[in-house]
Amino acid sequence: DVNDLEGLLRAIDGRGYGGYKRLSGEFALPGWRIGVDHVQADPYAPPSLVRVMVDAETAGLPDDLVDDRAGRIATADFLTRRLIETLHDHREISAGRVGQEVLERTHVAILPDRVEARLEVQLPAAGRRVKGRQAFRILSQELPDAAGRALLHRSLDAGALRSHVRLFRDQAWLRSRLPELGLVAFVGDGSVLPRRSGDSDLPLSDLPGSGAVPFTAPESLRVEVSLPGGRRLAGMGVPEGVTVIVGGGYHGKSTLLRALERGVYPHVGGDGREWVVTRRDAVAVRAEDGRSVTGTDISAFISQLPSGTRTERFSTTNASGSTSQAAGLAEAVDAGASALLIDEDTSATNFMIRDERMRRLIPADREPITPFVDRVRPLRRERGVSTVLVAGGSGAFFDVADHVIAMERYRPRDVTARARGIAGIESPAETATSVFGPAAERIPVDGCLPPVGRRRPVRARGLGVIQVDHETIDLSALSQLVDPAQTSAVARALDRISELLDGHLGIDDAVARIDAMIEAEGLDRLSGFRGHPGFLARPRIFEIRAALDRYRGLRLRR
Ligand code: ADP
Ligand code: MG
Repeated sequence: DVNDLEGLLRAIDGRGYGGYKRLSGEFALPGWRIGVDHVQADPYAPPSLVRVMVDAETAGLPDDLVDDRAGRIATADFLTRRLIETLHDHREISAGRVGQEVLERTHVAILPDRVEARLEVQLPAAGRRVKGRQAFRILSQELPDAAGRALLHRSLDAGALRSHVRLFRDQAWLRSRLPELGLVAFVGDGSVLPRRSGDSDLPLSDLPGSGAVPFTAPESLRVEVSLPGGRRLAGMGVPEGVTVIVGGGYHGKSTLLRALERGVYPHVGGDGREWVVTRRDAVAVRAEDGRSVTGTDISAFISQLPSGTRTERFSTTNASGSTSQAAGLAEAVDAGASALLIDEDTSATNFMIRDERMRRLIPADREPITPFVDRVRPLRRERGVSTVLVAGGSGAFFDVADHVIAMERYRPRDVTARARGIAGIESPAETATSVFGPAAERIPVDGCLPPVGRRRPVRARGLGVIQVDHETIDLSALSQLVDPAQTSAVARALDRISELLDGHLGIDDAVARIDAMIEAEGLDRLSGFRGHPGFLARPRIFEIRAALDRYRGLRLRR
């Protein structure tokens, strides 16, 4: 108990830092339990992992907020934000970080019998010696103090908690309704899409004078919905099919697309994108030259390479702009994406279009690339995949678009009829082709990702890099990986997947099993430990699979 803790810390005070190892275990404080799951080896090592726990009854969270998974995710998110705020300038204790998205996380766990906060604690040192008295203050006072202010219902703003949960549930409900509504995404009127700066995800303020233009739906695409929470919303529905966003440079096209990319996740109130809601399985695809590709079927886009290389199972250690985009797109579709989000700014031009003159100069049989403009409708027809595409530089997509939306001074206008007039068509032409075969199973050879034990655990380095032994996996092109805690979770997922791969299991099945495990047993299970799992946030299957697809050590059977 607390006396043991005090006695122990007094005993090691002033001794070598390794003395802290004796803290491992659990301590009971009045009202709280503290679990020390990992003790750092020295003052410069990553911080120690500590849990602080309170029983459910004392925490007093209302049943109707925490009796379903969605409610627990939103409530835990609220508590996490409160805890981070409380510990804002604390030097030794950290509750992790959060962004504008509300994600399933491990930072705070709402369990049947208790509420538990997971923290990182920098155990204090004088040089390399234990500072026992300060450590005691941190663990016995400051930790429970912060937890008391952030985890107990009586110290929270109950109304704010309730609206946080309601907002989350309403967004999730709308997201789940999109397929029935025939929509890929919904953008609510009044949404503020632009961000404060290129390195800030906070909203460009909508105060008068800041210049942020709130979103307003064009009449022809206006959709109204009533939310279960009682609110009525109006906004723009982005229909299934092929939607092309056009408009002059700097008129807000990419900003709209980026908001749609992020709309696969719920956002906090006040973000400006609360009502930008995109299907969870919409995947952003871009060119990413230099990436490695292993056995991806890109034959719908690239065939008959001059080298004679077959493209049904295409591999390279150094993809070009167009092959990388073809691979990323094919992988997203094979993984089950129902919509693709593509911006001209990050696309390879020769992957997207080829103009008349070039078609005349270079005959089709000498051009390995069939541009996306010729494949976007077969993709829709054969695989049911919609596309939302920003294309301000070419009218080539007028021929294949179901809808053309023009951004004009940040306001969308439906210009479908005019675009069709210019293209001289009544409706987009379908060609009877069959280019997208069924997704081919890709089976890694046993040992190409050895289980932990034969290598060090996979490590996330920030948002965009994962380290597997000496290989790094570059995830910087994945715009829908939004939180470093998601990257950490992808790293843990790769460790778990390495335990499953046996030379028979396919990549998609392995990823699906991990996702099913998270769904059934919770995100904590990813860590492989009991106790503090680290700061993890749930990634989508697409980002887990994208990490595998970019792993340079990947080897497939055959
Ligand atoms: P485009 O892709 O059409 O060239 P961007 O989407 O990159 O244009 O936007 C250009 C600039 O306008 C960016 O700095 C962006 O933050 C800003 N912007 C975008 N939408 C709005 C808006 N609704 N209100 C105010 N500024 C905006
Ligand atoms: Mg742009």
